[in-house]
Amino acid sequence: MKFQKIVIIIVLMIILPTSLVLNSAHNSYAIEKCKRPSSTQFLILPTSFYDVHGKDLKEAVENSKDPNSQGDKTLVSHTFVKLEESPTLTNKKSGKITCINAKISLTIHLPKWIEKCEKAKDEWDKFVQRALDHEQGHVKFLKKDLENLHKEILGHEKGYTGTKEFKSIFEKMVKDSEDRFHSASANGEQVPVPKNNIICEKPDVEN
Ligand SMILES: [Zn+2]
Repeated sequence: MKFQKIVIIIVLMIILPTSLVLNSAHNSYAIEKCKRPSSTQFLILPTSFYDVHGKDLKEAVENSKDPNSQGDKTLVSHTFVKLEESPTLTNKKSGKITCINAKISLTIHLPKWIEKCEKAKDEWDKFVQRALDHEQGHVKFLKKDLENLHKEILGHEKGYTGTKEFKSIFEKMVKDSEDRFHSASANGEQVPVPKNNIICEKPDVEN
């Protein structure tokens, strides 16, 4: 009986201080602890359409050049990638970002033919569908290629995502993803255009 009491006391003497130390260590860590693991999430925004004019199918297809597409070439369709504001937690002592839930929005841009005629509707719709398929390929690749974006931000100082350095890293990741998809896709960066023109209005017949 006496021996058992001694054992219990010894065990308590070991457990109590250890749990106190662990508990206080846990509490001090809790200040910096992320509410949820850092991550990168994707938000697919509604498709955006830009106006295209043309008297027939050929002209409408030729005019399908997204005015918002960037770089030295204009594109039929494009997927815009934007890093939205990211809730972050910064270590008070070091000023470094310890948690981040990065949100990336993706918006597909497609052409909308204003003067579309009934006769050319099917061919036009197929053309737009091919452009949409192309952009959905980009979306698939972007979701894979940018899934670890938060890791590029972690450990940097607050406001890092607003810096030139980060912007060029982000742009390169997007460009590399676009190139990867174009190399993997049968038509590269081209959206196949309709083979034949469809005239919407019959020319006036004289005689
Ligand atoms: Zn593309």
